[in-house]
Amino acid sequence: MRVWIAGAGHGAGHVVAAEDARVPVLDHGITVGDGVFETVKAVGGQAFALTRHLRRLVRSAEGLGLPAPDLGRLADGVRQALDANEGVDPARVRITVTAGPGPLGSERTGGELTYVVAVAPFPVPAPAVDVTVVPWTRNENGALAGLKTTSYAENVLALDYARRRGGSEAIFGNTAGNLCEGTGSNIFVVTGGRLVTPPLSAGPLAGITRELVLEWCGGDEADVPMSALPEVTEAFLTSTGRDVQPIRAIDGHVLPEAPGPVTRKAMAGFAERGAADLDP
Ligand code: PLP
Repeated sequence: MRVWIAGAGHGAGHVVAAEDARVPVLDHGITVGDGVFETVKAVGGQAFALTRHLRRLVRSAEGLGLPAPDLGRLADGVRQALDANEGVDPARVRITVTAGPGPLGSERTGGELTYVVAVAPFPVPAPAVDVTVVPWTRNENGALAGLKTTSYAENVLALDYARRRGGSEAIFGNTAGNLCEGTGSNIFVVTGGRLVTPPLSAGPLAGITRELVLEWCGGDEADVPMSALPEVTEAFLTSTGRDVQPIRAIDGHVLPEAPGPVTRKAMAGFAERGAADLDP
């Protein structure tokens, strides 16, 4: 695999073999998870919704108090990384920007940002998934709520919790007892015949697939009490890798249909419009 890297002693950016892309061991991204990232899908060498992803990267950096990443440089890096990995299709493009080298503690020295763009094959999503609700909560009022930072250890832990119980995605509630999101996905449910997804005030990441489903396929943003989950008739996850993925069971409670009619409509709507939204 070849990656594009800039900063961290790599200057303005270049493509190198992944094993040669050295990042200093005292990079704050490594020592304290001080960084932000994006996962973008590329089909036929074209990155999907790249502008929206780069905008969100800037919002995450702002939220974390990092200097604004150089978007022109990054867009060029994405192009170079895709060209260097031609044939990887569909491709998972991981953009990481960290605070760069720093001290071992939490303080920043304000040095140069480290940029990495890595490309790998995107696995084909399963036709439906079982999800497991984790017994702890996402803090919708926390400083990191809604930011896509490299501090993903809580998600790693949650996914491991779900996997040990037969789920392939974990679902978080928030401190108010409402539905929030998955470890790498947003969630939509059909309740009382209505398609809803938690509002951003409930603490989920502003998923780009979520945003596009709301735009293209409808649905409302509304708080969903965790206690209402046993009554949902359909549910699906959204993410860059999954698009719209039906949920078969929640905590072992099998839903009547996966996909049900509302989910099928969202899948079809997303597939139809999604193909046309590829960034030039
Ligand atoms: N929520 C979290 C915590 C995520 O990490 C992701 C994506 O990785 C999503 C939601 C879905 O966002 P998107 O549709 O932009 O991929």
